[in-house]
Amino acid sequence: MRVLIIEDDLDIATNLYEFLESKGNVADLARDGVSGMHLAVSSEFDAIVLDLGLPGMDGLCLCRKLRQEARRDVPILILTARDVLEDKLAAFDCGADDYLVKPFALREVEARLNALVVRRRGRVIDRKLAYDTIAYDPATLAVTVEGRPVHLSRKCLRLLEMLISAPNRVYTRDELEQELWGDEHPQSDSLRSHMHLLRRALTDSRGGSPIETVHGIGYRFAASDARPA
Ligand code: CA
Repeated sequence: MRVLIIEDDLDIATNLYEFLESKGNVADLARDGVSGMHLAVSSEFDAIVLDLGLPGMDGLCLCRKLRQEARRDVPILILTARDVLEDKLAAFDCGADDYLVKPFALREVEARLNALVVRRRGRVIDRKLAYDTIAYDPATLAVTVEGRPVHLSRKCLRLLEMLISAPNRVYTRDELEQELWGDEHPQSDSLRSHMHLLRRALTDSRGGSPIETVHGIGYRFAASDARPA
């Protein structure tokens, strides 16, 4: 999952960042409320870990703005040193989903984030995605082509989920790379290699695949009547 950490304490932020990345997640870090807010609205995250006491804009204010003004429903886990009932209630009132009091165990942060993300997926994507002969169930990660099961790597699954969720929408290479690798720049043709594997896996018995290369820009799932037979 892709997680935004908004925390000004360098030790805590670094520990969280390194722990989440070591577990195969992609993490982004903001050290103050304003840049955290900016990142939260300009990129897509699966979850946000939010400190309450932040320079610039405090966590409660950020949480409220994100819900009420930016209309984002990304799961938010609050981290704070304040262990007072009123503070917890205020956080939930501002739209937070969960709450952890410092000091906390890194494994508990991850477990809570996973629970929030799974719950949200269940709410948002409680449906199977299908396109032409391809079916994808985000809950079980099962993919079939003409009813035949297909096995894909995590990165290919993420690409498939993006493309199949918005047929005909062109995704730029930058967008896709950002989604798969975050700020770590991948090797120059990594995206092309993954796209090649995905295209091969999704090819049907007639040799057709819905993935279309938009030259010089990126990729999309193209309607079958727009593709060469
Ligand atoms: Ca703080």
